[in-house]
Amino acid sequence: MIVYLKGGEELEIANGSSAYDVACKIGIQKKAVATKINGTTTDLNTTLTDKDTVTLLTYQDAEALEVLRHSTAHVMAKAILDCIDKDAKLAIGPAIENGFYYDMMLSKTLTTEDLPKIEAKMKEIVKQDLQFEKASISKAEALEYFKSRGQKYKVELIEGIDAETVSIYKLGDFVDLCRGPHVPSTRYIPAEAIKLTSVAGAYWRGDSKNDMLQRIYGTVFTTKKETEAYFRMLEEAQARDHRKLGVELGIFHLDEVAPGNVFWLKNGTIIFNLIKEYITKVIRKHNYFVVQTPQLMNKSLWETSGHWAKFKENMFIVEDDETTMAIKPMNCPGHIICYQTGAVKSYRDMPIRMAEFGLCHRNESSGSLHGVMRLRAFMQDDAHVFCTPEQIVSETIDICSILKEIYATFGFTDIKVKFSDRPEKRVGSDEVWDLAEKSLTDAANQAGLNYTLNKGEGAFYGPKLEFVLKDCLGRDWQCGTLQVDFNLPQRFGIHYIDKDSERKTPVMIHRAIVGSIERFIGILIEHYAGKFPFWLAPTQIVVASVTDESAEYAQKIANFLDETGYRVELDTANEKINYKIRQHSLMKVPAIVIIGSKEVMEKNISVRMLGSDKTETIPMDKMTEYFKEIECKSHTN
Ligand SMILES: [Zn+2]
Ligand SMILES: [Zn+2]
Repeated sequence: MIVYLKGGEELEIANGSSAYDVACKIGIQKKAVATKINGTTTDLNTTLTDKDTVTLLTYQDAEALEVLRHSTAHVMAKAILDCIDKDAKLAIGPAIENGFYYDMMLSKTLTTEDLPKIEAKMKEIVKQDLQFEKASISKAEALEYFKSRGQKYKVELIEGIDAETVSIYKLGDFVDLCRGPHVPSTRYIPAEAIKLTSVAGAYWRGDSKNDMLQRIYGTVFTTKKETEAYFRMLEEAQARDHRKLGVELGIFHLDEVAPGNVFWLKNGTIIFNLIKEYITKVIRKHNYFVVQTPQLMNKSLWETSGHWAKFKENMFIVEDDETTMAIKPMNCPGHIICYQTGAVKSYRDMPIRMAEFGLCHRNESSGSLHGVMRLRAFMQDDAHVFCTPEQIVSETIDICSILKEIYATFGFTDIKVKFSDRPEKRVGSDEVWDLAEKSLTDAANQAGLNYTLNKGEGAFYGPKLEFVLKDCLGRDWQCGTLQVDFNLPQRFGIHYIDKDSERKTPVMIHRAIVGSIERFIGILIEHYAGKFPFWLAPTQIVVASVTDESAEYAQKIANFLDETGYRVELDTANEKINYKIRQHSLMKVPAIVIIGSKEVMEKNISVRMLGSDKTETIPMDKMTEYFKEIECKSHTN
């Protein structure tokens, strides 16, 4: 028979061959750990059939890493049965981003102190080179087996499977219900790279009415070095945690009087407004104008937009005797109302690029709230471009250039793009979705974007592109979105007069660049480790006097810089200069101007930049130029 390899290349193999045989034939049997047959990831020893398309997966592939992690979860379950509780009742053990977990009911409550013992047992198991042996058995047989062992969660899982047979995997004496895939044997798991991380509580099936189980988290990478690098990154991320730095640097306050809402303090408000000003400046160059729409709008509006049917559980609803209103969760319907004002639109008016820094409220569950990263009230740097279908491509290209420029200013140059198509919960006909998806695909291709598909993750009114930034710790943050929408304009019946004097429905492109400004500030705090670049720092310069005699001159310098437009603080306190420098460095002020008797006499200033132990002397009349240059440079790195 023949099979097709990744590049479409044909390979002749004996009937009954497995993917492993293919690996041997092309000489990568040492590297292959799993395979993809006709697009589905599966075990390496799976038997092939004629004309299958076979992709061999090595640890260079993300899918293989997932298989490794899930396989390691099995090893952990076996280790726990072997050394902690032989009657542990197992629930599920999936791979997750950066690791895996297993949920189980145990006779004792685990603490992190138990983890090294389990880890040691896991390493022992791995060294035995046990095979992951797959078997298909009837549902009845599986039920009997797991019932006899008191594995009630597995029994529940089997009962929910809609098939005649189920698959089980044997690992030594440990049998688990599992769909797979796994690595062929434990030899494929790098023992030294295994690390268990934590224990937490988790409800069976995520439902608080069910049993509370213990969730044991762990991770594994393909080498010990990678695991170590990962933990170093986590440590660094913890040191940069925006919840800690945000408070220390006087940026924001979170309070239980307003869960999911932020109190922006003095420094945070400065950053917030600077970001808004900066974005406004960039989008004005691209011919956007800015509007402001109401917070509370009538239920009827949300019914027309479809939010009432598809998004109601996320909305805050306000009722009085006569009317039902909702606080806006999105700005789109308000912008449609703005579009409808004034003269009837003509094709000559298109595109209309309407932006808003719109405060949106969404009723997120209290468990999902996280610092300023996940909130119930946030300001979106939103915009809607109303255009003709022919303009979708050029508008997408324009939006991509805005995104790139703004991200680069904040130091993000590694950007991934995801394409999300129609979700299950949606408005509009399939024909309209076909058209919207095709338009966005064409636009993305012509904008030269390299994107991956995110199936079923589009907005309820249209497909979308998502822009994911990589921060300096290598973590991904989804910030920007671009959605092509044929539905909302239709639902509201808005139109323009086309070249042929016909009434046409415009297309609406929804787009946000940083997304939520609140969350973006959280990302920036962690990305910069609190050291905001000069242009964005709440206090840019502290002028500190060395002695009482130099205080007056320091005051003069501070006044001058303040009048020039810098955010300046004066420090003439009766403290040693080194103490002052240390204090202001802790607050991550980018520049400290030191004024002593020498500076007073010679009419100059000494400047110490954050993170440097060198002091530069600048003549007083060169001061403006000096800081101007620093400000300019800080914009681009
Ligand atoms: Zn499994
Ligand atoms: Zn929108």
